[in-house]
Amino acid sequence: MAKIIDGKETAQQIKAELQKKISTISGRKPGLAVIIVGDDKASHYYVGSKQKACAEVGIESFKTELGSQTSKEELVQVIKGYNADEKVDGILLQLPLPDALRPSTQEIIDTILADKDVDGLTTVNLGKLVSKAPDAIEPCTPKGCMELLKRYGINPSGKKALVLGRSILVGKPISLLLNNANATVTMAHSRTENIEAELKEADIIVAAIGQAEFINGSSIKEDAVVIDVGINAIERGGKRVIVGDVEFVSAENRASFITPVPGGVGPMTVAMLLQNTFELFQKH
Ligand code: NAP
Repeated sequence: MAKIIDGKETAQQIKAELQKKISTISGRKPGLAVIIVGDDKASHYYVGSKQKACAEVGIESFKTELGSQTSKEELVQVIKGYNADEKVDGILLQLPLPDALRPSTQEIIDTILADKDVDGLTTVNLGKLVSKAPDAIEPCTPKGCMELLKRYGINPSGKKALVLGRSILVGKPISLLLNNANATVTMAHSRTENIEAELKEADIIVAAIGQAEFINGSSIKEDAVVIDVGINAIERGGKRVIVGDVEFVSAENRASFITPVPGGVGPMTVAMLLQNTFELFQKH
């Protein structure tokens, strides 16, 4: 049976470490601004939990809520306001944006000052990941995955890592971070032929495709490390439940380590947001 990688517990430890450091700061505390556009329920829930986590560790949070009809220009004005605000160390634009703005997502993100880009998604910061620059701000979810590997003593160096998904938010940056950590990385996506063959070869699997229980345990290599980023709401036994991209029970029987969903990568994303805010505060 696999060892469970407990993201909830690890995130609590990280928050406690941060809380301790922040409590010693006299004067201005680290500040995080969160911007949410539209009325997507899940996004509002995530923003609420991020603000709650800020309060727990002593980070001051600011929030701007904008309607779903907000124009690109109005949104950019809000971002520019936070760019100029000295109380704000990090700016998070909650994604996804409403349909009308979605094609401009990267253009809008790129108006966030690179040294306030707490989610590491500006073109500048993504470029720094490519060039392995020491001051790169790492995107929160991929950084959370790497932190879990580190804290559970899993060294990717020399290992075959398979990343399923190639989004700018998760798949691409985690592939770069694994590559920077000397793994041999394969990035699979919806056009990949014979994913089964790739799964059989991989020592580390990071699943970030948003397809409920797409990967069955029988498909993975024995003793593989499984990091499940997926968050999928499904109906089971008349109830709404959250599952990952990996079928947990069958994978738990073959893997050496596995993250549960919920309670794996999700809490780490929030912990890394706090960590990045603190690191930006130190820079400022
Ligand atoms: P996304 O932008 O929709 O990207 C999905 C990726 O998966 C795409 O690259 C797509 O390939 C690929 N894909 C889709 N179906 C596939 C299939 N059947 N076989 C192989 N590849 C497939 O999603 P995302 O933002 O990266 O998020 C992925 C998942 O992670 C979602 O469930 C999301 O909710 C979750 N997530 C969790 C956290 C967390 O904190 N735990 C944070 C962010 C996201 P193409 O490029 O070819 O279309």
